[in-house]
Amino acid sequence: MTGRYGGGQGRRHGGGGRGGAGRGGGRGGGREAEPIRGVRDDARLSEELLRMDGASYGRYKSLRGDWDFGDFTLTVQRVQSDPFAPPSRVRVLVPDAGIPKSAWGDPVRRRATADYLGRRARRLLRGSLLRIDTGGQEVIERSSCQLTDGGIDLRVGIDLPGHGRRIDGRTAERELCRTLPDLVDDLDWEEIDAAEAVAFADTVADTVALRGQLAERGLVAFVADGAVLPRRSGVSDEPMTSGAVPFTSPESLRVSADLPHRGTVTGMGVPEGITLIVGGGFHGKSTLLHALERGVYDHVPGDGRELVVTRADAVKIRAEEGRRVERVDVSPFVRNLPTGADTGDFRTDNASGSTSQAANICEAVEAGSHTLLVDEDSTATNLMIRDERMQALVRGDREPLVPFIDLVRPLYRDHGVSTVLVMGGSGDYFDVADQVVMLDAYHPHDVTERARALARPRTDADFSPPRARVVDPASVDDTTSRGRGRVKRRDTDVLVFGESDIDVRAIEQFADPGQITGAGLALRELVAGRHLDGERTLHEALDSLEEALEREGVTLLGGDFGGDYVLPRRYEVAAVLNRLRALRVAALR
Ligand code: ADP
Ligand code: MG
Repeated sequence: MTGRYGGGQGRRHGGGGRGGAGRGGGRGGGREAEPIRGVRDDARLSEELLRMDGASYGRYKSLRGDWDFGDFTLTVQRVQSDPFAPPSRVRVLVPDAGIPKSAWGDPVRRRATADYLGRRARRLLRGSLLRIDTGGQEVIERSSCQLTDGGIDLRVGIDLPGHGRRIDGRTAERELCRTLPDLVDDLDWEEIDAAEAVAFADTVADTVALRGQLAERGLVAFVADGAVLPRRSGVSDEPMTSGAVPFTSPESLRVSADLPHRGTVTGMGVPEGITLIVGGGFHGKSTLLHALERGVYDHVPGDGRELVVTRADAVKIRAEEGRRVERVDVSPFVRNLPTGADTGDFRTDNASGSTSQAANICEAVEAGSHTLLVDEDSTATNLMIRDERMQALVRGDREPLVPFIDLVRPLYRDHGVSTVLVMGGSGDYFDVADQVVMLDAYHPHDVTERARALARPRTDADFSPPRARVVDPASVDDTTSRGRGRVKRRDTDVLVFGESDIDVRAIEQFADPGQITGAGLALRELVAGRHLDGERTLHEALDSLEEALEREGVTLLGGDFGGDYVLPRRYEVAAVLNRLRALRVAALR
């Protein structure tokens, strides 16, 4: 509890001038605790909480519903049944927080300003029992803080306080009737550092503008001179503070870009086609690729990667032994399996390293990606390369796999799918690369000419686009055996969807845990919103969902969901769907 949040001096709230009853109780009030009736304003809430002090914990349920605080409405949406259950949920709707239209008038600034205010709210709530979900280094639309024109809509968790099974009404009163109104005051545009908020949104707007220029310039990525790519540690996404070598583009790949706020910036443009990143171990290859993976998102000022951008459709590809595959056409990569299975319609409950990676590529292309990111650290070697001696030993007809090296060119030439590949362990890819960048003590060099001199002629295989799948919507069902819908995240490992546990550890471009929940809710919406209708292909269903999300915003996914969630990309929505063990594909087109 910070000093300034204890006092409640000089608040504008109170009075509840509108008087009258609130808008009624929450959903299905339990028999044991009828919602409080009559005038429901802040004075009444304060009175009720103090009166509840010492009562049995279940009485908290009577708080459900709206409370009129004059300049905002507090809605108690969900009340925990005991002090150890997940936090209760409240919503704070401030119709007018004085936010000027310049800060919310377009979707990019709206998302950025909301994110800024959410982060400010988190700082202000430190030491209180109130919790607001905010992002890490990325700025992604989330349910917890939404702007409604000049106003704010906050969704906050609160651990309703108890002494054992008895209500601690005094503490609850302090949190809900003082801390919360103080928070609302402190988020008012008059109170915040508007210049900082504007600079935050400018940074995000520049990133979006930069990413928007990639396609027209024939680039798949851009890494600004001066960018700081390494992170503080394997478990921290914050920038490395000491000893980080800032990025400097090789002269031959350097391009400049004009941005609306920052003006002209320079950096390395990664052209479409096949780009190889080589270099000795520990020279920063994976760090660069990781920055490109995250370059589909916008970063907060000070992250170091604000001007590191990748095409929005970039998908990280990896091997993922043990995953389920449901009727994916992996025939470009896998032919005549020893089991005799039809690889144009491939299904397994337990994919191998190579078949899982093949499925991941085919599914990414099916979902619409034209940019693949691959790191040798997490691939199946036998799907990447096959050298001459191995070809001599294991004859072509005994080897079902067509390695990626024979398909990476046709993928680009015939289907416009570019690849950025980290490969320090084999020179074979020199044969197929358009550009080769070597990292030497974290400094990139353009070694394309030297690599070309070492290249050998090579015959490509054929890549025919995977057949499109039509999903049976009935198989995407989050109803549990007790008849209720369930979408729940377990740490960052598992998405619980109805009776299924979906292992999401290999879905590396979830940048925020809330996106895992968001992807689960998106599966539900794919069916509920009839995007998956048994007729459309998965690709068309994702198009349709994406359009709806653009139109309605992330809260389209929420409905009566009582937790925090963050906007997922279509590729991660497809990825969780593809890993759902109950998934059934009705037809291939
Ligand atoms: P590689 O994939 O080439 O083996 P990594 O990308 O895993 O290498 O990086 C090796 C180590 O170097 C990591 O600890 C990483 O944080 C650090 N590192 C990467 N890039 C930089 C940089 N630009 N400046 C300082 N340290 C870096
Ligand atoms: Mg590496």
